[in-house]
Amino acid sequence: MKVLIADDDNISRRRLEKFLECMDYNVLSCKDGLEAWEIIQSENTPNLLILDWMMPGMDGLEICRQVRKLDKEPYIFILLLTSKNETNDIVKGMEAGADDYITKPFNKNELSVRLRAGKRIVTLNKELLYMRDMLQKEAIRDELTGLYNRRYMTEILEKEFAGALRYKTDLSCLLVDLDFFKDVNDTFGHLFGDLVLREFSACIKRVARKTDIPIRYGGEEFMMLLTNTNIEGAMAVAETIRSACEALKFDDGDNSTTATVSIGVASVKYHKLLESKELITLADKALYRAKSEGRNRVKVYTREPSGQYVDVKTSEDKDLKCMKEDLSSVLEKTKQSSIDALTLLANKTGGNGHKQHNRNTRQYICLIGKKLALPPSVIDTFKRSSILHDTFKILLKKTLKAENRELNREEKAAIEDHPYHLSELIELFNFFDNEKSILQYHHENFDGTGWPDGLKENEIPFGARIFTIADTIADMLTEQPYRNKFRPDEIVQELANRAGKQFDPNLVSLFIEIIEKQNLLPV
Ligand code: GH3
Ligand code: MG
Ligand code: MG
Repeated sequence: MKVLIADDDNISRRRLEKFLECMDYNVLSCKDGLEAWEIIQSENTPNLLILDWMMPGMDGLEICRQVRKLDKEPYIFILLLTSKNETNDIVKGMEAGADDYITKPFNKNELSVRLRAGKRIVTLNKELLYMRDMLQKEAIRDELTGLYNRRYMTEILEKEFAGALRYKTDLSCLLVDLDFFKDVNDTFGHLFGDLVLREFSACIKRVARKTDIPIRYGGEEFMMLLTNTNIEGAMAVAETIRSACEALKFDDGDNSTTATVSIGVASVKYHKLLESKELITLADKALYRAKSEGRNRVKVYTREPSGQYVDVKTSEDKDLKCMKEDLSSVLEKTKQSSIDALTLLANKTGGNGHKQHNRNTRQYICLIGKKLALPPSVIDTFKRSSILHDTFKILLKKTLKAENRELNREEKAAIEDHPYHLSELIELFNFFDNEKSILQYHHENFDGTGWPDGLKENEIPFGARIFTIADTIADMLTEQPYRNKFRPDEIVQELANRAGKQFDPNLVSLFIEIIEKQNLLPV
């Protein structure tokens, strides 16, 4: 360990040097305080100081004060060398920042033990700092992939965004999501899924330049912050990641598969952003677009160019298409929760034995689906069918077993009708099928003048005839920017006017009765 000594008394200093060298210390020696202070401020400060109190230029006490102000790491241990041995002096020295003191002329053994204590403190402090550094490094890393984690993302995004605005540089963000990753887990298991995540992360790291910041944003979602990179540059990096992933083969010796990613891109300058979170929001929207347009692609966030002429019909078609995509994802979720609920029910009823069977079925469906290059949505449907089949089968068996007696012929036939039973059960999940007719025909008029099919009277589904009146009443009860809400007597009048024309007259009478019963009419 290095020791710095500062003493203006040549003899005392030499003696000290010799003694310390004998003890294998690496000694730096100064004749006065200023020279010592110079060295202390440099990069390679020794962490053990032995300072004479009285020195020309800068005395030991002053150096103590200044060292403590520097607040350097690792800790600098100061031993004050002094001929002053009054308690008051010692207190003064320690208050200035010295850790210990020794009186001149020093006793070698005493110096040796006091220095050893200092050395121990410095060593412990170094170990502590090392551990702190390790913890800090780990705290910002994702354990599985070694990439930066989301906590770090929040911190660095703020910093880089502020820097980009301040120095008028660009900052881009890629949001990268593995496509159909759930299937990888379902087919090959979670451990293999982890391997894919690790190897894909390694791929991102290889693609990343020194100034890029690769982050694991969530489960199978990654973010890459590209400092000093404009939208074109960002798209190029995104495309490199996309194609690199496509070319990767994930293999654990037993199983092997490939994967693709979808990537959303946004840039501070291109999108004229003023807030850091917008960078993520827009990249996320672009990612969503990449997913809905078929996955395995890179998309930059784009706004509909405002004020530009767009054919109304095409734009409506496009809106409808987008909305259908949005709603499909709601349906996907609904299907998944129905399946989850059914699986739970089956597990309660039939135990867990069927789980492995079903996992195997799904695995082979996935494998053949991939071999035939079927679209993932089709594979999903096949997989769901297998779950539904197994679940219903368990539920049906339970009912029969519960009766616990010999089955008669009819009952046996019923079992042979198993496929019909299954389809009957699945029909329960065709929810909204009945609602469809109401939505389709709620603009039909009782007298046949409505649309889309010009149906009249009882040809119009009953539900549609009811809905259209209820909807109109609700409408009249609502205040609009261009009119006040209707009073109950006005509603009654309006319904009566439209009875037989727009509305089913029988239903109108009943609705009027209801309104009158509600005592809402003025007396
Ligand atoms: P999409 O193409 O729409 O992104 O489909 P997806 O299946 O990739 O997306 P989804 O969000 O439905 O599923 C993500 C899956 O990622 C579900 C979850 O179990 C899995 N996952 C998340 N974190 C981990 C992880 O640390 N390890 C493993 N093996 N799987 C994970
Ligand atoms: Mg995904
Ligand atoms: Mg995801």
